[in-house]
Amino acid sequence: TQIMSRGLPKQKPIEGVKQVIVVASGKGGVGKSTTAVNLALALAANDSSKAIGLLDVDVYGPSVPKMMNLKGNPELSQSNLMRPLLNYGIACMSMGFLVEESEPVVWRGLMVMSAIEKLLRQVDWGQLDYLVVDMPPGTGDVQLSVSQNIPITGAVIVSTPQDIALMDAHKGAEMFRRVHVPGLALSPRLEYSGTITELTSASTSQAQAILPLQLPEWLGPQVLGLVQNMSVFQCPKCKHKTHIFGADGARKLAQTLGLEVLGDIPLHLNIREASDTGQPIVFSQPESDEAKAYLRIAVEV
Ligand code: ADP
Repeated sequence: TQIMSRGLPKQKPIEGVKQVIVVASGKGGVGKSTTAVNLALALAANDSSKAIGLLDVDVYGPSVPKMMNLKGNPELSQSNLMRPLLNYGIACMSMGFLVEESEPVVWRGLMVMSAIEKLLRQVDWGQLDYLVVDMPPGTGDVQLSVSQNIPITGAVIVSTPQDIALMDAHKGAEMFRRVHVPGLALSPRLEYSGTITELTSASTSQAQAILPLQLPEWLGPQVLGLVQNMSVFQCPKCKHKTHIFGADGARKLAQTLGLEVLGDIPLHLNIREASDTGQPIVFSQPESDEAKAYLRIAVEV
């Protein structure tokens, strides 16, 4: 398909929403949702006057219901819009509220698109200062559709040092040069057609780790930077710190690309337990070092 930047449909803001921050990753399991959830809570914690929403468009594997300890059917407003569910002061909407938990989401493309349309346009957010959007991993129709439909203030890319360490810096640089990433400033907007295939045919798992960076709408000023998740492991007993996947991989890659590293999140049992029990760390242990790592990132955003 020929999706050229010039032919993009017009983006329309989500009613009542001032800023949209998307949280993306090249692949699953790197902590994207954990980051999105804690970032939303951190934005609220850093400035209590701000109204924050969290939109989970990871339609194939929604995590927000579990992480935010929410379930149920959104009520409809008078104008037939869905009301977000509220917990820990965050207004949340997720595909997980609209389908049964046990129901596997094996959807056709069209159904996915209509679900996305619903999540983007049929929610009554009221007034929000920030809407944090948890994207599906990788690149695909959902990411493209979101970035084409709504104006995105900034994208936060979550990666692990392992993925980044896998990337040969030169190969990475060459790849980005070929897909015209502005960090290597060849073209302010990449022409979409062909480049994905080009990249896939060069295909390396390394490339997948940072694939969202190719999406034209997320580039340039819109990429706020990288979050290096699971960067360091601290032994709960002896407090010794180990860089399991090597230190500073993200920093080097970011430098190569002219991107900022927004922060490092340690690999920590508390983060996992907090997420998995629906008590995100920024809410449940705001004084912990782990929570502070997210709070610092929220300041950068
Ligand atoms: P993704 O959204 O990228 O698929 P998740 O946010 O769902 O990833 O995280 C995958 C798993 O890793 C979850 O069980 C989560 O609790 C855990 N996790 C994420 N970040 C950390 C971290 N920094 N330390 C410990 N566990 C983490």
